[in-house]
Amino acid sequence: HGVNAALAGATPVRSALSLFSLTQRVALVTGGQRGIGLEMALALADAGAVVYCLDLPAQPSSDWLKVQTYVNELPVSEHQVGMKKGRLEYISGDVTDQKAMWATLELIVDREGRIDICMANAGILQGADCLEYQAEEFRKVLDVNVSGVLFTAQAAGRQMERLGIHGSIVLTASMSGTITNPNQHWVAYNTSKSAVIQMARSMACELAPKGIRVNSISPGYIFTNMTRAFLDTQPGLEAKLSAQNPMGRFGRPDELRGVTLWLASDASTFCTGSDIKVDGGQCAW
Ligand code: NDP
Repeated sequence: HGVNAALAGATPVRSALSLFSLTQRVALVTGGQRGIGLEMALALADAGAVVYCLDLPAQPSSDWLKVQTYVNELPVSEHQVGMKKGRLEYISGDVTDQKAMWATLELIVDREGRIDICMANAGILQGADCLEYQAEEFRKVLDVNVSGVLFTAQAAGRQMERLGIHGSIVLTASMSGTITNPNQHWVAYNTSKSAVIQMARSMACELAPKGIRVNSISPGYIFTNMTRAFLDTQPGLEAKLSAQNPMGRFGRPDELRGVTLWLASDASTFCTGSDIKVDGGQCAW
């Protein structure tokens, strides 16, 4: 009965798969030249978006250039026939520089005419004893992981508001924003990721009247440079950490593609202020 009522109403009927199409959309992914950010960028471009990957180095890495070539050679899928194909662009920048982030978004909008999707993903991990954490080190983690995420999201949100675009902003948090584990010494990181989850909720409430959605993604352990750095410090650590989730393994960066597409696209138009966990069930038990 509900389905029939919806079909008879004013809502245009669209095929479910077409909800994920991002043709004619423009996206920014920070930390987009490797790890989780690169997979997010790939997913968005695959669905037809023009994706700007922002990262610290002046030039992209050879890995990023390989992915760019791959994206440029992707075949046009059925629903994209006659439409613009997705592509990857590289842009260097530092998310902790608020003025530069605002200027970067102006530049993207000048070039492409719009911004629809913002993945505020860049982040750093550093560990130290909570009783020993030095001010400068602590501030550095919060600067990148909290201030940098806000500066990215607000730079994109300002342009969306100015252009009247009902965009999607997605912040990369972490399961470490919800749970913690003994012997990790991640007080700065965990604090920063909790803040990101609450930032998404707060921004979602403020921006809902403007038609802009804000959500966060909380990955569990994912194989990237970030996790490799601490796995290398102790033999057997991978098995020990894998046992912390019911699926008994680390995730792969490409396992973030689906949730990225869902949150970035029209497939999730009634979802805002949510934290989506992609953690092999680690927060669930
Ligand atoms: P990586 O270290 O592989 O990638 C992080 C990216 O962020 C790098 O490209 C890095 O640039 C970039 N970056 C760091 N600081 C800045 C800055 N100030 N301005 C612009 N870019 C910057 O990590 P992941 O891909 O694993 O992490 C991506 C996000 O996912 C992070 O927010 C992380 O906290 C989160 N996350 C990761 C998990 C995991 O298990 N891997 C689990 C849960 C959350 P550069 O290449 O120059 O260092």
